[in-house]
Amino acid sequence: METISQAEVRLSAVKTHRRTLLDVDAALRAICSTGKGRCWYCDQRLPRAEEAISARWNVQRVEGKRVASIILICPTCQVELARMGEEEFLRNLSLRVCNVVC
Ligand SMILES: [Zn+2]
Repeated sequence: METISQAEVRLSAVKTHRRTLLDVDAALRAICSTGKGRCWYCDQRLPRAEEAISARWNVQRVEGKRVASIILICPTCQVELARMGEEEFLRNLSLRVCNVVC
């Protein structure tokens, strides 16, 4: 019995942790309602909440030295970030953004 209840405690701890970590849908809706959402990396505009959620925009909490901030990551950047790793991604990103701007 004890084993089961310990496993349950562990499981619910994981669930709770996940939920407090991020409620992406709620965060996207909140940010969409401000009309100010942009991808942290490439500056792409956040679409309407439903589109953002179905396109799987991501929201991350970044702990700063004094305050935590919320950043948005568009689907394109997420895929490339996962594919290349952060260092390579950032190197390519500056080229990509430059091409768009220049
Ligand atoms: Zn992006």
